[in-house]
Amino acid sequence: MSCGSTSWEEQSGHVDDNDLELYLKYRLSGESISAIEAHLARCPACVDKLVEQDKCLWYLAELRGGEGERRKHPRLKTNQAASLQVLNPFSADVWDIQIVDVSTGGLRTHTSKPLLPDSLIRVRMQYSVECGDVRYCIPAEEGFNAGVRLHDYL
Ligand SMILES: [Zn+2]
Repeated sequence: MSCGSTSWEEQSGHVDDNDLELYLKYRLSGESISAIEAHLARCPACVDKLVEQDKCLWYLAELRGGEGERRKHPRLKTNQAASLQVLNPFSADVWDIQIVDVSTGGLRTHTSKPLLPDSLIRVRMQYSVECGDVRYCIPAEEGFNAGVRLHDYL
């Protein structure tokens, strides 16, 4: 597992690790996001790298954490609207969702479409952006409820 940036990948026409990290963290301009999403939509290798980058950041966050002051952002509110994007399997679609409840390290969402267990997702809420993976998804009233484990590095 490598967290360093590799310039040969940049030259080979793939997205480099640094940009994948910024993409995960939602810290790129709209133009860069469009370029990366166009590439991810047709390059499974870079989607794999995106998944690896997420694991890497999550692992480092776990190493750094554990000593109390985990959450820098305001506590997540329940029953708030949010948006969700599935990063693996990659899709550029953004869904409007509802956060049903929040627990330590996780949340439950309400979506109109089912989410695939084990998919990597990114949720944008009022005060924060979080990546996570889908633990389960079950039918609920007028849609689906999914449990998401947050990776907590943002
Ligand atoms: Zn690529």
